[in-house]
Amino acid sequence: MLILIKNADIYAPEPGGTCDILLGGGKILRMEADIRIPRKYCEVIDARNLKAVPGFIDGHVHIMGGGGEGGFANRTPDLPLTDAIQGGVTTVVGCLGTDGYTRNMAGLLAKAKGLEEEGISTFAYSGSYGVPLRTLMPTLEEDLLFIDKIIGAGEVALSDHRSSQPTFEAFAQLVAMARRGGMLSGKAGIVNVHLGDGPRGLDFLRRIIAETELSATQMWPTHINRNPHLFEEGITYAKAGGFVDFTTSTLPSYLEEGEIPCAKALRRMLEAGVDPGHITFTSDGQGSLPDWDRHGRLQDIQVGRVTSLFPAVRQAVQEEGIPLETALRVITANPARILKLKAKGRLAPGMDADLVLLDPHNLEVRTVIAKGRLLMKSGKLMAKGTFQ
Ligand code: ZN
Repeated sequence: MLILIKNADIYAPEPGGTCDILLGGGKILRMEADIRIPRKYCEVIDARNLKAVPGFIDGHVHIMGGGGEGGFANRTPDLPLTDAIQGGVTTVVGCLGTDGYTRNMAGLLAKAKGLEEEGISTFAYSGSYGVPLRTLMPTLEEDLLFIDKIIGAGEVALSDHRSSQPTFEAFAQLVAMARRGGMLSGKAGIVNVHLGDGPRGLDFLRRIIAETELSATQMWPTHINRNPHLFEEGITYAKAGGFVDFTTSTLPSYLEEGEIPCAKALRRMLEAGVDPGHITFTSDGQGSLPDWDRHGRLQDIQVGRVTSLFPAVRQAVQEEGIPLETALRVITANPARILKLKAKGRLAPGMDADLVLLDPHNLEVRTVIAKGRLLMKSGKLMAKGTFQ
């Protein structure tokens, strides 16, 4: 069935004026003024006064659950499809975190394939916090070459008490394997790097750029907004050509302790002169958000949500005065380019039919289409997960 969206205000993410969008076969077929198709061949969506934007890409989600850092009882649940839909997220990249043992690559890929069947696009990273990586095939290069959904490695933990304390050489070898596998498979081969609160910060990433032949574009460090020190370091790193990713799932106590809200972090990076193409947001959805007291005792534990992704972008527009087209890039065109997802992140003929319609006044997500299928229409869910 074709879908014809009439009179949408296009943000591709750059502003494109008003036009109609014809979707079919999972692709954007045409974007033109006044497309006419007999009604019996298509579902027509009246988008007058609505903003059409690319479906959101969430490049760091614990789709099969994470956590477990306080014992078995705080392992977090897996991603419900409806969270992605309600968050306007049409593409997720799944990852494993601290626990690469009770969670493994087989389970991660199975969950990714399940979400794909349920209606959204999914990819995954090989490995978890630890180095050496636990891959599915014998090597990371073979995972990238022979498993379609694998597009990189991670989340590899550095500067954190939960990391495997890899040597610089071990980390450099990992980035090299990602580079080689990425080249051979035509994929990004990116290393998604978890940064903790440790004082070494981005040291290993800077050394990769300074001491090896590998480039900054092979690494995508995340949680850069987690404390003021790492954030300042991130500004310098990004100005020198690195990518920086901010995490949208948070707790009030994290912000009280110095975490920089993503909207503010985006404004401050732009004011500091960072290339807007080098900044991204991800949700860390389904990861655990533990709240420890100063004696290291667990006070509370919450779960990260993919529904936190777009609200951080909205906040950047509404509270920090960032133009919608600039703010949108951090969850659309930028991650698509960094992850080499060539059919994602933009509205244009030939791209995948992943699209969100926003209310122009409050920027609420109204309608969500993924791979050409209506998953939410005018605020009403049209699909749900198999067991929801
Ligand atoms: Zn992490």
